[in-house]
Amino acid sequence: MARGLDPRALGEQGLIEAIRRRAGTPAAPWRLGIGDDAAILRPRSGYELVATTDTLAEAVHFRWSTTDARSLGQKALAVNLSDLGAMGARPLGFLLNLALPNELRPGCLDALLRGLLERAREARCPLVGGDTVAARAWVITITAFGEVPRGRALRRDAARAGDRLMVTGALGGAALGLALLERGFGATPGARPYVRRQLRPRPPWKAGPRLLRRGWSRAAIDISDGLSRDLAHLLRASALAADVHLERLPLARGLRAHARRLGLDPEELALHGGEDYELLFALPPDAPSAAVCARRLGCRVTEFGCLRPGRTLRFLRNGRPVPIEIRGFDHFKAFSDSSDK
Ligand code: ADP
Ligand code: MG
Repeated sequence: MARGLDPRALGEQGLIEAIRRRAGTPAAPWRLGIGDDAAILRPRSGYELVATTDTLAEAVHFRWSTTDARSLGQKALAVNLSDLGAMGARPLGFLLNLALPNELRPGCLDALLRGLLERAREARCPLVGGDTVAARAWVITITAFGEVPRGRALRRDAARAGDRLMVTGALGGAALGLALLERGFGATPGARPYVRRQLRPRPPWKAGPRLLRRGWSRAAIDISDGLSRDLAHLLRASALAADVHLERLPLARGLRAHARRLGLDPEELALHGGEDYELLFALPPDAPSAAVCARRLGCRVTEFGCLRPGRTLRFLRNGRPVPIEIRGFDHFKAFSDSSDK
């Protein structure tokens, strides 16, 4: 096995068997993992099942020129854990759909599985099944399952006027990392934390179930497309308006200096950059302060705005309204924009 997993040598069943061996046998609440026509889960009573799926497609979400297989495996699961966390769910397990080109770089699939299963073990989220097909380009789709106490999931449509807007961690780092990679500066001094942030995000997914357990918040969304766009989703779902105080946004450390060097606006990276995978949540007026939240959630928490009746998203700098367009990643607009150029 010097060449690692080779689908052409192993065949479909041999490959699945190799994946099964690496994944191991899932513990309860799973009754059955890889090997039958489907996996079996016995839900705990008093809980609801939460399901989410996310795809990483070659040339759309990643390029082999700027990522490595182990990071990609880690990211594929991390983005799904982020979605589960944003519902307040604890992860239970996941399905893996792999579309693989016939010619694989030796060791590539091994590294991808290693990255994926590393994150899976950390999160106690076992691989319980999937599908494996041949294709022209790589497509990695993960479907993940989680559980929440019945009726208690954090939802985009559950925010209320008067709630404070909170965000975990810091913003803009992943977008800066992508800009550095795309311009060939991925290996320059100082680039590392941002590149890592882009290639191997570590969403604070535990913050979601912790918030839910304390009963502090009812509404949350993870920041995948960019704060402005994801906040707009929350506002639309909850039929609310918001004020965002730009000077309060937690920018990633060093973002200003690095962004300026690239001719980028740090605030734009933080607002519209996307892929930060931080948690944005609404906190009722009587819930604790950002400092208490940070202690209890085990991550940095910043209050950056509030929700009001109405339908507008207003950005303020030191109390003065600033016109800012809502932007962020949109697959189909991104395609039409680039074909216009
Ligand atoms: P079927 O033809 O009935 O869909 P498969 O041969 O595709 O069955 O799959 C056999 C078993 O292997 C199933 O339990 C399936 O969930 C699992 N499996 C297939 N591909 C993967 C994969 N990429 N990762 C994990 N499990 C997989
Ligand atoms: Mg199948």
